[in-house]
Amino acid sequence: MFAGVTAGAALLPDLDTPQSTLARSLGLASKALAHITENVSKAIYDLTRTRRDARITNGHRTATHTLWFAVVAGAGTAALVSAYGKNSAIGILFFMLGLGIRGLVPNWTGKQDWTFVTGLSLALAVAVWFALPASAGSAALGAAVTTGVVVHILGDMVTKRGVPLLGGVVSIGGKRWRNFRLPGPLRIRAGAGMDAMLAVACATVVAFLAYCVVWAPHLLGAPWVAGTLT
Ligand SMILES: [Zn+2]
Repeated sequence: MFAGVTAGAALLPDLDTPQSTLARSLGLASKALAHITENVSKAIYDLTRTRRDARITNGHRTATHTLWFAVVAGAGTAALVSAYGKNSAIGILFFMLGLGIRGLVPNWTGKQDWTFVTGLSLALAVAVWFALPASAGSAALGAAVTTGVVVHILGDMVTKRGVPLLGGVVSIGGKRWRNFRLPGPLRIRAGAGMDAMLAVACATVVAFLAYCVVWAPHLLGAPWVAGTLT
């Protein structure tokens, strides 16, 4: 559940553009949500920008690409789950899986109708509902959302444009929406082979960790016995 929510939350910031695959992941509902998010983000930018900040024509890569958003999204999730328990946790899982499946296997889902992906997320969420104890961990799910959003922001930070990490609040050099980016040599050009190499390296680590968690927890120094996870 933690993995599913983190994967979905890692796409959440791009809800600020109706062009993203994310905006198309839940049909009309996510398209409408993307339009609202984009306009709200632009309004926040326009309200808080200084004269030195550039004028923008749309809200992409502004409010939802800040550390504040990462914290607020996580805290909001935690508050929701602690107030409404298991049912809200399943709702969040359903929504995040709808996003996450698109992000993890975009080539496959691109060929499927959005209703198919939505149905799949619903089926997975219902399956988890039966396995989940009545008291879903609100702090853990909040942390999963914050982690996902931070991963997305870091991912955008390695691109040329960068992200306004402290946007809207902290003014640096007269600019309240200064973009942060990595120094030149550390930047990655999408599609240059580097991303495929990183994907293979990360997938290998994930496969190894998944193996350890279920079959060889002692390798991680974990206190549970192999095979007892249900
Ligand atoms: Zn982004």
